[in-house]
Amino acid sequence: MSRDTLVSFEGVVKRFGNFLAVQKLDFEIRKGEFLAIMGSSGCGKTTTLRMLAGLEAPSEGVIRLAGKPINDLPTWSRDTPMVWQSLALFPFLNVRENVEFALKMRGVGKVERRRRAEQWLDRMQITEFAERNISQLSGGQRQRVALARSLVVEPEILLLDEPLSALDAALKVRMQSVLKNLQRETGITFVYVTHSQSEAFSMADRVVIMSRGKIEQIGTPQEIYRTPRSRFVAEFLGSSNIFQGTLERGDRGGIVLDTPLGKFETGGPAVVQPGSAATMTVLDTKTHLATERPSGTRNVFSARMVGEEFVGATATIYLEAPGGQEIRVQKGHDELAGLPLEIGRELFIHWDPSDGHVIAQA
Ligand code: ATP
Repeated sequence: MSRDTLVSFEGVVKRFGNFLAVQKLDFEIRKGEFLAIMGSSGCGKTTTLRMLAGLEAPSEGVIRLAGKPINDLPTWSRDTPMVWQSLALFPFLNVRENVEFALKMRGVGKVERRRRAEQWLDRMQITEFAERNISQLSGGQRQRVALARSLVVEPEILLLDEPLSALDAALKVRMQSVLKNLQRETGITFVYVTHSQSEAFSMADRVVIMSRGKIEQIGTPQEIYRTPRSRFVAEFLGSSNIFQGTLERGDRGGIVLDTPLGKFETGGPAVVQPGSAATMTVLDTKTHLATERPSGTRNVFSARMVGEEFVGATATIYLEAPGGQEIRVQKGHDELAGLPLEIGRELFIHWDPSDGHVIAQA
């Protein structure tokens, strides 16, 4: 355990009856980091968070907080203050009173309570609603009150479970930067459960990707995006073209993967023995299009354009490779200018060898 470890999960398993909801979790949460836990519905994100909060006890293994086992220790008897950000506001209190409530419970005096509540109302941009009843707020405003109420007590850890789910797209993006800035300024450790890739990747220092109760990968957003550790992660993120084949060569000179679309090469080191199945991923932003077969690279094949999609400043071109595999190429409009982008047109897909990433799992 390193010096900056705040929480560690050591062989943590959670069963509900015979159902294995979480299988052998081993990971650490660092002091002051923004950690996002993401994965598809039912993969065990909330159960992991609930165990950390003391709302569920692990069936096996140990969870340590600041070095001490907390498996059976309720939140209120721990030395490290941890708050579960809950949307359940008190309907009989107004906004300001909701935010002041936890301070009152902790015996903070009236003047100080008011000062700290005002500070958080201001930070969350809800000062104008201070005197309103909770029933007079929109879903998004309630979420901001709930955040102010959690943060006013300045916990060491804040646990958040899909806190932005009720917001519209524009407010969601705004709140993402508010949350990220808050986390940076306060240094509070955020553990943030979401199924949204854009939320996790835009805010978190590190992301945990879970599937069926297990961790598939843990790392910085960039690491996970550029070097997915398994085919599952690459498919889950959906931002790479994935080629399956057999490793023909893997030595200091690089890797050659023999696939139905051609022999593709990238830098080493090899992750499997020659002759074994392997997968190459290439980000759709790193895949290029050309009308003529580019010379000087092995990483090229032809495909037929089947569609295009424009989102803001970028376009995604969809192509079908021989054999039926869908290929995606994402580019800025400038980079596509001059290309004959017509449905049915044959184009060459190519990429730089350094942009290929090989994973063992086929
Ligand atoms: P979502 O994104 O849908 O909220 P999640 O990743 O947070 O999903 P969990 O709520 O952790 O998933 O649930 C993991 C699995 O454990 C699910 O299959 C769920 O049905 C099951 N589960 C959760 N709580 C219980 C319980 N109290 N009793 C039985 N099964 C449970």
